[in-house]
Amino acid sequence: MKKLRKIFEKIKNPVPALAQSKTEKEDKNEDSSSSHPQTTFDDVAGLEEVKEELFEIVDFMKNPDKYKVMGARIPKGVLFYGPPGTGKTLLASAVAGETNSSFFNITGSEFVEKYVGVGAKRVRTLFEKARKEAPSIIFIDEIDAIGVKRHLESNNEKDQTLNQLLVEMDGFNKDSNVLVIGATNRLDLLDEALVRPGRFDRHIQMGAPNFHSRCEILKVHTKDKPLARDVDLEMLAKKTHGFSGAYISNIANEAAIIAVRESMNTITSDHFDKALERVVAGLESKNSKLIEREKRIVAYHESGHALVSDLVGLDPIQKVSIIPRGQALGYVMQLPDEDRYIYTKEELLNKMMILLAGKAAEQLIFNHQSTGASDDLKKVSEIATNMVCNYGMSDLGFMTITEREQHFMSGTIKAEANKIVEGCFVDTLDILKENENDLEVLAAHLFKNETMSHDELKNLIKKQAVN
Ligand code: ATP
Repeated sequence: MKKLRKIFEKIKNPVPALAQSKTEKEDKNEDSSSSHPQTTFDDVAGLEEVKEELFEIVDFMKNPDKYKVMGARIPKGVLFYGPPGTGKTLLASAVAGETNSSFFNITGSEFVEKYVGVGAKRVRTLFEKARKEAPSIIFIDEIDAIGVKRHLESNNEKDQTLNQLLVEMDGFNKDSNVLVIGATNRLDLLDEALVRPGRFDRHIQMGAPNFHSRCEILKVHTKDKPLARDVDLEMLAKKTHGFSGAYISNIANEAAIIAVRESMNTITSDHFDKALERVVAGLESKNSKLIEREKRIVAYHESGHALVSDLVGLDPIQKVSIIPRGQALGYVMQLPDEDRYIYTKEELLNKMMILLAGKAAEQLIFNHQSTGASDDLKKVSEIATNMVCNYGMSDLGFMTITEREQHFMSGTIKAEANKIVEGCFVDTLDILKENENDLEVLAAHLFKNETMSHDELKNLIKKQAVN
């Protein structure tokens, strides 16, 4: 009955956003209030160059008169871009904390409504409030939800919302002590009008933290935790290569929870290792014991990865396990020696060989193809496609192939990438055949003990060489 009444009302009010009273979500947004975060730059570890860039803006907001006499105006918008969990929200709230500003934390998708005009009205209301409560920081996370290039996605409601945002930013005058910080994972998707000078003209990249930043992030997230003497934060920073700040803070928290679960007074290095495995590979599945035959397959598969990794010498092995966790039946944890930003073609081929080694080991020993390599193949496909399209490392030549071109050339690109992958697979099979005895020894150890450390792996291979 209620549903019928709603439909009836819709027919009576064909443009509900304009004719109707406020929708539920609109009510929520109009109530959306600011906060006054206590976060400071000290809470944001690493990211020194990013903080430096923001110091000036903070000074601007704290001492506006100093700049006003010189006729300077505060930058209107700053755009943080980078992968998830790299501290964009944290940093925006630190800017608010440092400047004692009201902090409006909104997600782009909150503006997206199906009724034309609602999003634009929300933007207007938000800026009105921010001006009233200035100094203010408006933080719009996932700004691509409203700011995507207009030719990519034409949508009347989104266009109006974006236009309103541009109008509001253009309307700032010298006295508006309001800063808009946008965040996105995809800077390349944003409309030019949004990122041009005078709007979001300061672009700050936030990447995965390097070794030094990971050490600092670990310090921040362990400073209130009782650590045992054996905890080595630098070693932990090494082990968390490629992790975002969000992952690292999660590991610190997980380690504390594991310590409580084990009724300990301090968090030990072992707790951190367990937390790392928990976060990397998921929860240990206590109930899903592998049947004997599958356990044998997984033991050879993981030994294949570990052995080829050791042979090509790319990144040392940290641990190999065939205890199922999350979606994975087994896994190899590697320990990169250093932060790497450049890989040679040979190193990429080696990386692919390590990834293909599980599948190759299964083929060599069981002469079968199984579903166990699907995740490895996904990663291999990504590397090979990048080699073809972005790195100029294939027979298609040096020219990069844009996303648009990839759309039309997908058959050619796939064939070229597959040629590279197949070549790698043949090399991987060869290297495993040459070292089949080592493969047998590692797989037998894994089958029996279910895990293998770096030292165990090295000793087993050494013993084998002596025999
Ligand atoms: P998303 O793009 O998914 O919104 P984000 O880049 O906004 O992610 P944050 O929400 O700022 O990431 O970070 C998540 C959490 O990770 C933070 O609350 C904090 O605990 C931790 N973190 C991330 N980077 C840092 C850092 N540099 N220093 C300290 N903690 C950090």
